[in-house]
Amino acid sequence: MSVRDDIDPAESAGGMADVAVPGVDIDELLAADDRRARQQAFLRFGAPLIGVVGFLLVWQILVAVFDVPRFVLPAPWDILKHIAGQHITVHCTITRQQALRDGYLEEFARVWSANPNVSQLWFSLYTPQIGEVSPEILLPHDRQRVIAALMSMRKTYRKIAMPESLVQQYGTPPDGPGDCIFAQTTSCISADFEHRITPCQFGGNPDCSQCGCIASAGLKAVGAHKIIGGTVRIGAIFETSLKIGRSLRNRREAVA
Ligand code: SF4
Repeated sequence: MSVRDDIDPAESAGGMADVAVPGVDIDELLAADDRRARQQAFLRFGAPLIGVVGFLLVWQILVAVFDVPRFVLPAPWDILKHIAGQHITVHCTITRQQALRDGYLEEFARVWSANPNVSQLWFSLYTPQIGEVSPEILLPHDRQRVIAALMSMRKTYRKIAMPESLVQQYGTPPDGPGDCIFAQTTSCISADFEHRITPCQFGGNPDCSQCGCIASAGLKAVGAHKIIGGTVRIGAIFETSLKIGRSLRNRREAVA
């Protein structure tokens, strides 16, 4: 409340010039009252503003001095606390939503690469079931964009432990489980150890033509590699070994 508010309207009906209090300088009183009103307005609106600006300035200085990657923390605190002192592999399965967000993968790689507790980064692509319709499924041109991004990022972010030959395999997934070295060489068991999961870790009826499994791509890349002067494909050795192993098992089972 100001001095003006204290003046009885009935007394001031003839105007402020009519008010006279012996020994009191009304002009000085009104000026002091204006100053006080301005101070209160400043405290109400200006001080919080200065506080926020000051905080941002201090934060920016901290970002510059300590190389804090972003103003917003890159991952929930509990994850960061949990991995402290470890050497983990961060494995990201890329969905279409992620692929469509410009710069997302680069940002992901940058943030996790900067974390000293992360030793390597892997990227898989979302693998649907046959007939599945979902927003996570990458369209063919999304897949090509992701492959191009991974090819580029692996040169910049050395923690991306994915050779070029592996990344390329995302462009030509296996035709089916029978063509997938990973599915042929691994057994998956349910978490309660009660069931065998087939034909691979995805279970059900996975759409191999849209497979984005890093393990499958990795073993396909190994299978495509040629040795002995480029004359023998490792996949051919594997296929021969698999045939021999199955033949021996069939014989054993026939005898038993
Ligand atoms: S890992 Fe991929 S290619 Fe291999 S069986 Fe499973 S879905 Fe098919």
